[in-house]
Amino acid sequence: MTATAEQKMQFLYAIRSKGVTDQRVLTAMEKIDRGPFVRGVFSERAYEDTPLPIACGQTISQPSVVGLMTQALEVQPRDKVLEVGTGSGYQAAILSQLARRVYTLERHRRLIREAQSIFDQLNLSNVTAMTADGSRGLPDQAPFDRILVTAAAEDPPGPLLAQLRIGGIMVLPVGQSDAVQSLIKVTRTETGFDYEELRAVRFVPLIEGLGQD
Ligand code: SAM
Repeated sequence: MTATAEQKMQFLYAIRSKGVTDQRVLTAMEKIDRGPFVRGVFSERAYEDTPLPIACGQTISQPSVVGLMTQALEVQPRDKVLEVGTGSGYQAAILSQLARRVYTLERHRRLIREAQSIFDQLNLSNVTAMTADGSRGLPDQAPFDRILVTAAAEDPPGPLLAQLRIGGIMVLPVGQSDAVQSLIKVTRTETGFDYEELRAVRFVPLIEGLGQD
């Protein structure tokens, strides 16, 4: 499914009206059609500003939240970015438009297979998608300029903090999985970490280990 001109206009209007104003982020979200990332009965709702179910009992995030998280990450063209929680692959595809290289980790093999086939169709050659427990990060490729986590942990995982470059930014939801969580922005300084609380959000939990499927 691809968006009609009217669907695209309404989609971008909804995102802008929720506070996504960074032109590079808006351009990336205009370019990457959300349709291919939503399958089955929910595909008709791909252009609504709402989270939707995907395989393995997971969700594709609400587009305005994707936009706000991407905006808060302040991605620069030379950046190497780590995403934890590939899900449908939509967020990684947006990041691929803004960064030099994107590594995205997902604990469900099936989701990686499905996301990879969309990355291939779209020729997104700067995205590397892997089945892995993202709470451990990707030590082989560290340090990262930016880290985006799209599942909620009670606290920022230590390995991810350690894999953030000095001057780097990490955006992630923190809090109990059954409650409203806080989206936070962590900046690594020469001497430690600065924390800024951005807004209330609701994400599926960050779970250690690999999934069954
Ligand atoms: N970024 C996704 C997108 O654009 O569709 C949305 C991700 S969904 C809200 C969160 C994802 O994080 C789920 O697919 C879940 O399986 C994954 N996840 C949870 N714990 C994980 C872990 N330890 N390592 C990797 N992925 C994990």
